[in-house]
Amino acid sequence: MSLSLDISHAARARPSAPVNLSGLTREGLRQALIDAGVCPPEKARMRASQIWGWIHHYGVTDFSAMTNVARDMQARLADAFTLERPEIVERQVSKDGTRKWLIRTAPGIEIETVYIPDVGRAGALCVSSQVGCTLNCSFCHTGTQKLVRNLTAAEIVAQVQVARDDLGEWPSPKEDRRLSNIVFMGMGEPLYNLDHVADAIDIISDNEGVALSRRRITVSTSGVVPQLNELGERTQTMLAISLHATNDELRNVLVPLNKKYPLEQLMAGIRAYPGLGNARRVTFEYVMLKGVNDSPEEARALVKLIAGIPAKVNLIPFNPWPGTEYECSDWKTIERFAAILNKAGYASPIRTPRGRDILAACGQLKSESEKIRASALRAMMSVD
Ligand code: SAH
Ligand code: SF4
Repeated sequence: MSLSLDISHAARARPSAPVNLSGLTREGLRQALIDAGVCPPEKARMRASQIWGWIHHYGVTDFSAMTNVARDMQARLADAFTLERPEIVERQVSKDGTRKWLIRTAPGIEIETVYIPDVGRAGALCVSSQVGCTLNCSFCHTGTQKLVRNLTAAEIVAQVQVARDDLGEWPSPKEDRRLSNIVFMGMGEPLYNLDHVADAIDIISDNEGVALSRRRITVSTSGVVPQLNELGERTQTMLAISLHATNDELRNVLVPLNKKYPLEQLMAGIRAYPGLGNARRVTFEYVMLKGVNDSPEEARALVKLIAGIPAKVNLIPFNPWPGTEYECSDWKTIERFAAILNKAGYASPIRTPRGRDILAACGQLKSESEKIRASALRAMMSVD
């Protein structure tokens, strides 16, 4: 089963726009070459493999760079397809090294992508799966942005390509990568766009391309329970759950999707996640909100709730945004909360806020597809 949102009219790619080959899976690429008459079916697999390497291992954006493809075929490819990167509207670098790109993939479609050095093995890229989000979690800035639409696989892959262009990571380095992990923790709910997310993961994990191991890719969800199994089966990626509360009453307020899939169902879905084990733990994300969910009783309730699940807990200090009524818990309170989890045997790192000065931290992303410029947001907010 596959749930997806089909909301847009204006925002959908124009039918006449050439297909960007970067967003096609291997099989999709092979088929596209046949359909466009670029090569005969019996040669398509071999051609697709050649072209694949140029796109995903070398990162080329021009068919004429494909030196083992004959000139006339290069021309046919250029007629039928594109490899163009989207426009980078803004690039910001935080004083802590975090980079944020505002990427425009189509008129009115603006996405934010964030690179955070020294996270994961070397550095993590936080990618968006939708423009905005329909889910309205009350502490999340993205949730206040009206969803424009689901991103295509090409638009998800493009975020990785843009980051690697900037980090100088073509051809795919075997070792010493700066971009070593991918987290679907940017704008949007990935499980409402699972088909495109799964295709994008197939593309970026392919060994003859970007070659990021599926174990280094984490998909974060607010708890779309019916899609959890399919996510695990199709992508074999690491799972992160935005939990944030230990009882339905509070979670209904913080993560309204909880009214549809309450905690009991959510926990059952997580326990059944394919491949879960000590080597593949689920990450529970828990945002620390002052006086809301940060008491020692709640820490103990959390231990009880996740008992028996191979898990770690990420405590995320709340990142404020203009207009929010929530505040971040005091540091001491967060440490006390973490100590209770640690004592119960759960690794519970406190996630240091990164890139707050450029509004790149968790939950601060909100592109101007909703018509507020990032510069105006910065001006509205005093940054530390
Ligand atoms: N929609 C998905 C993935 C994107 S959100 C999800 O909700 O899981 C990535 C993480 O940032 C989630 O755990 C989310 O709850 C958290 N988050 C949202 N707003 C935040 C904020 N203002 N401060 C800190 N974390 C926040
Ligand atoms: Fe959407 Fe995730 Fe933000 Fe909730 S926390 S509004 S699901 S992006």
